[in-house]
Amino acid sequence: MARIETPRRIRGTQDIFGDEQRRFAHVLATFERVRALYCFQRVDIPVFESTAVFARSLGETTDVVSKEMYTFEDRGGDSLTLRPEFTAGIARAYLTEGWQQFAPLKLTTSGPVFRYERPQKGRFRQFHQIDAEVIGAAEPAADVDLLVLADQLLRELGISEGVTLQLNTLGDAATRDAWREALVAHFEAHRGELSEDSLTRLEKNPMRILDSKDPRDRPIADSAPDIDAYLTDEARAFFEAVTAGLNAAGVAWERNARLVRGLDYYRHTAFEFVTDRLGSQGTVLAGGRYDGLIGSLGGPETAGVGWAAGVERLAMLLEEPAAATIDAVVVPMGPEAEARATGIVADLRRAGLAVEMAYKGKMKARMAKADALGARFAIIIGDDELAKGVAAVKTLGAGTQAEVAFADLAEALR
Ligand code: ATP
Ligand code: MG
Repeated sequence: MARIETPRRIRGTQDIFGDEQRRFAHVLATFERVRALYCFQRVDIPVFESTAVFARSLGETTDVVSKEMYTFEDRGGDSLTLRPEFTAGIARAYLTEGWQQFAPLKLTTSGPVFRYERPQKGRFRQFHQIDAEVIGAAEPAADVDLLVLADQLLRELGISEGVTLQLNTLGDAATRDAWREALVAHFEAHRGELSEDSLTRLEKNPMRILDSKDPRDRPIADSAPDIDAYLTDEARAFFEAVTAGLNAAGVAWERNARLVRGLDYYRHTAFEFVTDRLGSQGTVLAGGRYDGLIGSLGGPETAGVGWAAGVERLAMLLEEPAAATIDAVVVPMGPEAEARATGIVADLRRAGLAVEMAYKGKMKARMAKADALGARFAIIIGDDELAKGVAAVKTLGAGTQAEVAFADLAEALR
C-alpha cells in the first residue's frame, strides 16, 4: 500500500499554541487597551490588495517590493499581493472609502503580514504586526502622540527595560535633495569598497546604504555625512518640536543619525525601538512620517505618520506569562453522576465561570486533570453525593474540602 505523506508546515509559518499563544494574546490585549487610552480607532483591512498598492507606495527598489512580496495572479488574471505591511493598505482605504472627511484620523490595526525572507529566530514569512497610524495631521504633535503611545505600550508589557527609542529626521524634500547629493558624492568616492547590493542602491536610493547590514558597507556608511548640515529651517524646527514633545512627556530617546527607513515615502521623523536582547532581529517597533505616500497612490497630498511592531518579537521579550487558570473541574464518578454533572457544568458556565469536566480515566487521572488545568476547585460527584444532592468541593491549593448543595455551587465558587 502506498504510504501517505503527512503535509508539512510551510517554511517560515507558525502554529501558535500554549505558552506562545498566551504571550501573543497578551501583546494584542495590551495593545488594544493602550490604543483606546490614546483615542485611536480600530480598523480592519484586507489581507490582500492589488499589487500596485504596495509597488507604488513602498517603491520598486525597496527590499520588500523587489524581493519579499507574495505576489500571485488570481483566477480572474489580476495581480494581487499578500500584504507585507499595513500602511499602504490603510492609505488605499483612506482614499477609496472617503475617509478624508474624518481627518485627522487615528487608526490602529493588527494581523498577519507576509514577506518572503530567510526564516530565522524572530524572522518569519507569515508574521504578525500591530500598527498605529495618524493620517491627515502634518503637525509634530501627531508624531509625539504615536511615540508616547509606543513607549507606554512597551512599559505596560514590562519590556521597556533595555529597549531604546532611536530617533532621526529625514528632513523635508529640500533637505533630502541636498543630503542625497552629499551622500552620492561620499559613496562614489568609496565605490570600490561597497557591496553589490549597495552599488545598486547607489543608483536608485543612496540613502539606503546607510542602514545596510553588510559588514563591507558599514565603515563607509558610518563615515557618511549626517543630515544635520543640510536641514532647512522648517525641517529643523519640526524635529525640535518632536524631541521637545518627547521630553515633555517623559519619553527617553537617543539620536541615531544613521537611521533611515527602508521605504521610499518617509519624511521628517524616523524612529525605531531597538534592543540587544533578540540578536540580529533587534528592531521591535519602527516607523516614521510618510507625507509622500498618499500622493504617490494618486491621492491628494496628505500628511501621515505611523509605526508597526512585530508581535512575535514583542512576545519573545515578555516575562514568562502566568499559567492559564480556570475556576473548577467537575469530576463525576459513574454514568449517573456524569449525566448530572453535564447539567451542572452547563449551569456554571452560563453563570460566567470557567469550568471543565474530567470524564476520562480513574479518579486519580481525573484529579490530575484538575491540577493540570490550574483549577481553583475540584467538584467531585459520586453516588453518595448524588443521593444527597450535594457535591464535594475541594479547594485545590489548600487541600480543604466542603459539601455544597448543587444549587449553591456557582455562589460558592465565587
Ligand atoms: P528588519 O530590519 O528586521 O527586516 P524591517 O525594517 O523590514 O525589519 P518593518 O518593515 O519596519 O521591518 O516592520 C516593522 C516591524 O515588524 C519590525 O520592527 C519587526 O519587529 C517586525 N518584522 C519585520 N519583518 C519581520 C519578519 N520577517 N518576521 C517577524 N517580524 C518582522
Ligand atoms: Mg525587513
